[in-house]
Amino acid sequence: MEGVIPKTLNEALSLMASKNYIPVAGGTDLMVRYKRWKNLTPSFPAAPLFIANLPELRGIYREDDELIIKAATPLSDIEGHSDIPVVLKEAVRLMASPGIRNIGTIGGNVGNASPAGDTLPPLYVLDANVVLLSEKGKRTLRIYEFIKGPGKNDRREDEIIYEIRFKVPEYTHYFYRKVGTRKANALSKLSFAGIAKVENGIIEDFRISLGAVAPFPVRVIEIERKVVGKKTEEIDGQFIDSIKKDYEPYIRPIDDQRSTAYYRKKTSLRLIESFLRAL
Ligand SMILES: Cc1cc2nc3c(=O)[nH]c(=O)nc-3n(C[C@H](O)[C@H](O)[C@H](O)COP(=O)(O)OP(=O)(O)OC[C@H]3O[C@@H](n4cnc5c(N)ncnc54)[C@H](O)[C@@H]3O)c2cc1C
Repeated sequence: MEGVIPKTLNEALSLMASKNYIPVAGGTDLMVRYKRWKNLTPSFPAAPLFIANLPELRGIYREDDELIIKAATPLSDIEGHSDIPVVLKEAVRLMASPGIRNIGTIGGNVGNASPAGDTLPPLYVLDANVVLLSEKGKRTLRIYEFIKGPGKNDRREDEIIYEIRFKVPEYTHYFYRKVGTRKANALSKLSFAGIAKVENGIIEDFRISLGAVAPFPVRVIEIERKVVGKKTEEIDGQFIDSIKKDYEPYIRPIDDQRSTAYYRKKTSLRLIESFLRAL
């Protein structure tokens, strides 16, 4: 199978329009997905299109009150950038290992649509948009519209993920936890991202998302609305129990090689409680 390295974004888009290519950014997911026996190169089901070095797909920019992260920006650039909200930075800092973070990209993590993708819960709480580009034009989708289920997303065959963008929120509290077996190179058993804004003792904004506990990241706006507007002194044991009960049906983990459904559910509910108590 012949791979192609386009020199410009336009060339990449025109190739994508001409036949089915697999976009390869860092390749850290794809090389594992299509690996074969030792000493054999991976076997891709369609020709790989190597997009990591296209300058149009790299960089972090501010545009008015929005932050834009181009899709092939390496995770290590995100980790070290001062404009990135700390809830996302923290998630990236705990991913994989420095070597993988140097070549793995945010577009690849989003494109992979794994329930354990660590950038997803922070991007859900940041209300991120995914911008897709093809020769036909641009499409912008909310991240939860883009992610369709384990390994499934809404990208059309001729599209590439161009950028991730979100309005930088004001928040006074953040809470990020990755629960894994060890510190480096461990995929999450589950992960939790939360941000909140508390002013004069009133909770003005409250958002949480959980990863690896359902086919896609959990974020439930209706439950968040029950917390917004509350005085912090109203967040007592009874209220916390009712919020945890509300989340229970949305937390539908599975047993797998990394953890059990029981552990994932119990821990998720404890993390929700910890964040509410921190307010
Ligand atoms: C040892 C190891 C440890 C890891 N640890 C973690 C971890 O802790 N947390 C975690 O979340 N992940 C982890 N991963 C998975 C992986 O590193 C990340 O998901 C990474 O962000 C993938 O980025 P990439 O650029 O390498 O993606 P690639 O492998 O290049 O692509 C992944 C998918 O996205 C698509 N894609 C990539 N870029 C685009 C684009 N611009 N447009 C359209 N489609 C695109 C590809 O076609 C493919 O389907 C780990 C992987 C390894 C090998």
